[in-house]
Amino acid sequence: MKLLFERSRSGRGSTLLPACDVPAVDFDQSLLRTAPPRLPEISEIDLGRHYTELAKQTHGVNDGFYPLGSCTMKYNPRVNEEAAALPGFTQVHPLQPQETVQGALEVLHRAETLLCEITGMDAMSFQPAAGAHGEYTGLLLIRKYHQSKGDTARTKIIVPDSAHGTNPASATMAGFKVVSVPSNEAGGVDLDALRKAVGPDTAGLMLTNPNTVGLFDTNILEITQIVHDAGGLCYYDGANLNAVMGHVRPGDMGFDCVHLNLHKTFSTPHGGGGPGSGPVGCKAMLEPFLPAPRVKAVDGMYSFDTPQRTMGQVRGFYGNFLVVVKALAYLITLGKEGIPEASAGAVLNANYLMKKLMGHYDMAYHTLCMHEFVMTLQGLARDSGVTAMDVAKRLLDFGIHPPTMYFPLIVHEALMVEPTETESPETLDQAAQAFLDILAEAKADPESLHHAPHHCPIGRPDEVTAARDPILRYGFAE
Ligand SMILES: *Cc1c(COP(=O)(O)O)cnc(C)c1O
Repeated sequence: MKLLFERSRSGRGSTLLPACDVPAVDFDQSLLRTAPPRLPEISEIDLGRHYTELAKQTHGVNDGFYPLGSCTMKYNPRVNEEAAALPGFTQVHPLQPQETVQGALEVLHRAETLLCEITGMDAMSFQPAAGAHGEYTGLLLIRKYHQSKGDTARTKIIVPDSAHGTNPASATMAGFKVVSVPSNEAGGVDLDALRKAVGPDTAGLMLTNPNTVGLFDTNILEITQIVHDAGGLCYYDGANLNAVMGHVRPGDMGFDCVHLNLHKTFSTPHGGGGPGSGPVGCKAMLEPFLPAPRVKAVDGMYSFDTPQRTMGQVRGFYGNFLVVVKALAYLITLGKEGIPEASAGAVLNANYLMKKLMGHYDMAYHTLCMHEFVMTLQGLARDSGVTAMDVAKRLLDFGIHPPTMYFPLIVHEALMVEPTETESPETLDQAAQAFLDILAEAKADPESLHHAPHHCPIGRPDEVTAARDPILRYGFAE
């Protein structure tokens, strides 16, 4: 496909800039460019076709099944986008006097109340811009808490090896030492290893639950008890709340703080790097340390508030406000019945698809899963040379976005499948059939799978070079 620069023809297209309506300013000559910018010159219709063609070459939730494990690529109702596009929300300024933005403050306050109810927390900040940012903020809460008690010896955060990769990264960013504890046979935290790992230097534990192999840790109450007995606090990575919301609450399981990914569970599309939101919720004893400002309600009026011993700001103003608007719209439309139904559907769909593939593909763990399941293609790779990468690539030819590959690291040749609750049984049946067809191909003609996909505009790019050495500028000839 040609780039816009390659389609450009001198003099083509039109610039319809409005007449200048502000006084001209005499800049220092050294600040002015000496040649006009080399923008592509292209007619409107060709520009439109260019972007339409690009759009057709990509795969999104609107195109087909997108079972990208850990990412919750579910359908986000359009009506929530409409709510977030209302001028009353988009045309306000974060520095406006608070009496003129009562509606916006009410959105933040109501979303906080509902999400605290869902998580079993007492307070929440919407400042963090994404999940990992929420983790970082939660860890700063834990640090501030220990500091406030004069306890500076607590420098370590315990992270099970089945945690999401951002957990150890965030703990390191927040200045803690990471202590890894292994998983047991069943895929949960090894309790004996945890007992050995805790001590007077334990600041806390970060638990991803359901963990990255899609399992709910059945020892969760014991885990939080062990950490609390050692004087540490418990952090719940709630990015996967889609699996449990409305059924269990981190706050009831002994957790002191939690982050959520509104851009997974609560109706903001993601995957393209757009605005997200990773609110962090906490129990009352951590509330004084939350980022400022917060919104409080007194006698029906909303106002800004600075927590007593706030950590300061982790982002400008109140976070990605419009993402919170979408989350609130989603919460209100689903209501008390719809929220647990959504997570039940996510778990049902994952188990349905897992069951259809079981006996054909090897599962990493042989129990009921939560919202996602992990397969290991080690045996297939050994017997036929066909890898998880080959299967993932071939799925593209079936119009299916590949599952997450080679993650979690504790499972070899892993494919991690998360169907989400918004898929129909027909779609799941078709997906299962695609997986089975590919398995038959792997036995009959493994070689051809090494070259899949066969029908996509791009097949096997050099991903390392693309990530490490991206070409972000057009190389003009002269
Ligand atoms: C997605 C995810 C994260 C990170 O969220 P970002 O918004 O990408 O920073 C953290 N933990 C888990 C379990 C996740 O699935």
